[in-house]
Amino acid sequence: GASIVATNMTKVYGSGDAAFHALGPIDLDIKPGEFVSLIGPSGCGKSTTLLMASGLEPCTTGTIKVDGKALTKPLSEVGIVFQDHLLLDFRTAMNNVMLQQEIRGLDKAQTRARADMLFDRLGLSHAKDRYPRQLSGGMRQRVSIARALVHDPSMLLMDEPFGALDAITRTQIRHDLEMLWLETRKTVLFITHSIEEAVGLSDRVLVMSNNPGRIVEEIKIDLPRPRP
Ligand code: ADP
Ligand code: ADP
Repeated sequence: GASIVATNMTKVYGSGDAAFHALGPIDLDIKPGEFVSLIGPSGCGKSTTLLMASGLEPCTTGTIKVDGKALTKPLSEVGIVFQDHLLLDFRTAMNNVMLQQEIRGLDKAQTRARADMLFDRLGLSHAKDRYPRQLSGGMRQRVSIARALVHDPSMLLMDEPFGALDAITRTQIRHDLEMLWLETRKTVLFITHSIEEAVGLSDRVLVMSNNPGRIVEEIKIDLPRPRP
């Protein structure tokens, strides 16, 4: 996993009269292999923080560095999962994941082997040839996790990945995600509305508040599991 260090990071959307100070300044110091959750009310800047960590949104002021460097080829180092699975309807589960191989120009055999491993770990082995609409919501989110990890990024960013799932499905998928994380030790930034989920999964929970978005509290969690 990569380290993620942000210093005095702010985000202002728009400009002039329409300028809106959405976030910060905030600092982040996320260690390689750490699992960090962001919680806080709607609009406090959780998604904005995640997008800046991905390199998809620039900071307005301040800096964010991944492994000590500004993100130059963001998408090669990052895997992202959104609340909406964003799978392509006309491609099977495996073909949705393998699309990354084409888009990113990855080695085909290696990517397929990694996809097979991820399908296995995520309980998707029987679902490879199914289309998204033939899968449950939980299975579709599992496929989008496989897609986010197939290129072996150094960090996994998840924006309310389980927000649309029922409680039982959430518990199952959370368990499998934790097993996979223990095995791969990606650095994870995880947005959730569930304090229970944040506490159950993370090394650290960052609590944010509104107007502008700030980190107001940091909770270290000592879970009974091997440390990174
Ligand atoms: P959260 O994820 O905590 O709900 P967001 O990061 O999505 O918060 O949004 C933080 C604030 O910035 C909100 O007030 C939101 O309306 C605003 N915002 C987010 N994206 C944009 C954008 N592209 N343009 C203008 N304002 C935005
Ligand atoms: P494109 O629109 O370039 O064909 P995709 O459809 O795969 O790319 O994804 C759309 C956007 O979603 C990308 O630009 C990227 O921001 C994000 N995205 C999708 N999958 C991933 C992933 N596995 N890792 C990082 N970002 C991703």
